[in-house]
Amino acid sequence: MSADNSQPESRATEPQPPEAATTEQPTEAATEPRPTEVENGGQEPAATPRPKGRSVGAERAAAALEGVAAEPGVAKPDAILVADDVSRSFGGVRAVRVEHLEVQRGTITALIGPNGAGKSTFFNLISGFDHPDSGTWSFEGKDISKASAFRIARLGMVRTFQLTKALMRLTTLENVMLGATEQRGERIIAAPFRWIWKSQESEVEARADALLERFRLTHMRDEFAGIMSGGQRKLLEMARAMMVNPEMIMLDEPMAGVNPALTQSLLGHIEQLRDEGTTIILVEHDMDVIMSISDWIVVFAQGEVIAEGRPNDIRSNAKVIEAYLGKSRSLPVAGHKPVKAPHQPVGDDATTQEDHS
Ligand code: ADP
Ligand code: MG
Repeated sequence: MSADNSQPESRATEPQPPEAATTEQPTEAATEPRPTEVENGGQEPAATPRPKGRSVGAERAAAALEGVAAEPGVAKPDAILVADDVSRSFGGVRAVRVEHLEVQRGTITALIGPNGAGKSTFFNLISGFDHPDSGTWSFEGKDISKASAFRIARLGMVRTFQLTKALMRLTTLENVMLGATEQRGERIIAAPFRWIWKSQESEVEARADALLERFRLTHMRDEFAGIMSGGQRKLLEMARAMMVNPEMIMLDEPMAGVNPALTQSLLGHIEQLRDEGTTIILVEHDMDVIMSISDWIVVFAQGEVIAEGRPNDIRSNAKVIEAYLGKSRSLPVAGHKPVKAPHQPVGDDATTQEDHS
């Protein structure tokens, strides 16, 4: 993949003003087939029930973050990612200007903010899919600000895209197997020796099958990705990202356009990954989801980090409410598990759900 393959490709060069959270637009979810028809292919239950109460991982994250002040740029006890003075402009618009940001290892850290706040651009920058005007950042203590997306992925930091990247004319299995080569790199030297790559291929296939099982996509194994629903493609993207056993996974709107029946199971997968020790950075619009799943929340507005904290800190932060939701709205209670259709998209996501394969 190259930089111009990343998600903001369809953007106009005109800056987009942040939109209020109330400007809801329909998404693919509205026109998607019912879950029983497509999400589970009529063969498997679509949703994995999420356990009630706080999981091991959530407890661990809360304990690790105890005493950390809810302030923009605050230091974390065990930061896996540290960014300094990262800036990126498009034309005259400063899309990102992050002075200092640390992400605590083993947490679900959410990046929130209005449309156009710079979340995806920040993702693109730190994952090597775009280049900043200035700034440095490190992953696991290694400076990766000059590293390619490929090398960054090899170091254990992978991302998914706001636009899904499934290759429609490959099968589900092939798409997942690609994660091993796409993100890790083909072993070019070994390529001429068929017996080497043959054994590697079967190893990769076994891993891919295990991930399909994990994400409940086994029944889609030999189907073309082109027939999948939006939600299934999001799962496919997560499975593909997991092929490299990442230390950290960055999910850009994994819930956008996903059928509500599959949202709970996606959330369950994300929590499970965190419980296993993976660090998750999540961009998500749905405040119910954010408040229920995040260990830590970072709020972007106009490219800057305007607030950080636990869900409770953020919910009561006047700056956040004003910048993100407008003065008249209040944020949901932390820990509240959404009971209704959890996806309440805002802004331009409806236009970003087309697949570019
Ligand atoms: P978010 O993901 O928070 O919605 P983005 O990072 O996509 O925000 O966008 C931040 C700002 O940068 C917006 O003003 C957007 O219009 C602008 N922008 C992002 N990508 C591009 C691009 N490739 N070309 C021009 N402007 C862009
Ligand atoms: Mg975005």
